[in-house]
Amino acid sequence: MRFRFHSFLVAKIVSLFLVMLFMSNCSGPSGTPCELEFEYTITNVDDGFGLNEAQVQLNVEKALSLWSEAIDSLHVRNSADAPITIQFVYDYRQALTNRAIQLEENLDSRRMRIDRMREDLRVAEQRLRSRVSEHEELINRISSRVSALNAFIDERNRAGGLNPGEVSRVESEREVISRLRNQEEQMRERLQQMVATNQRMLDELNREISFSNDLADRFNEEIGPGRYFAGGNFERRGRQGTISIYHFVDERELGLVLAHEIGHALGLGHVENTRSVMYEKVGGQLIAPELRLTAEDTKAIREIAGCGP
Ligand SMILES: [Zn+2]
Repeated sequence: MRFRFHSFLVAKIVSLFLVMLFMSNCSGPSGTPCELEFEYTITNVDDGFGLNEAQVQLNVEKALSLWSEAIDSLHVRNSADAPITIQFVYDYRQALTNRAIQLEENLDSRRMRIDRMREDLRVAEQRLRSRVSEHEELINRISSRVSALNAFIDERNRAGGLNPGEVSRVESEREVISRLRNQEEQMRERLQQMVATNQRMLDELNREISFSNDLADRFNEEIGPGRYFAGGNFERRGRQGTISIYHFVDERELGLVLAHEIGHALGLGHVENTRSVMYEKVGGQLIAPELRLTAEDTKAIREIAGCGP
């Protein structure tokens, strides 16, 4: 992204002219117009931000108009050899931010997935409980048939032994009991499988919950409110300076980061009000529906511009 609206010479002349304008107005008596100049160029916007040249330009202009409203006029020039360069540097920070944005969008569907998993698990546990009681019933039925059969055999033995008809009845009852035992064994195996399946569902649910919680924590820590202005940086070298933008959640936050770093480039330091654009942390600012300055911001820019009382 390159801007070549002014030749080197023209830009120099414009800049000199502006400095003179600035000096003549701001050294005057109190009550005279107060003005600042801001001459910048956008040197680089990495593709990772997904913003085109016009969008970046618009955001910079919006941030500048915020400051210009607080003073009589802010003379803005966009020229290739301007002292202030603005660059959008895509690195792990925006990559992380983009991931976190996707993550936040995914959190809702993850929560829905967790709810579904919880419901599935609840149904599976109900089914397991009813199967467990069926299994217990079967065990009781087997043991009462075994007791009854043993009691019958004991009784017949005490009376001198079983007759052939009784022997065949005992044999067929033993077969019934053996079939029931097989049935019980199969049922027990199925139950063990169900318990294992439910355990896996529970483990998966817990993993899903803890994964979602970690992601939510990380999002709040790195992207949520209360961070220092790590999304941007202003570095001054004499009359020159570089505004670097590293990450932002959305265009509103980009507006705030730009306004904050441009504030530094205009000469402002941090102010104390948590709602101020120039507060050191992101989060408390008045960004909706439009970004606004606080009285502290206005006072700070007016001091820099040498505005009268
Ligand atoms: Zn700052």
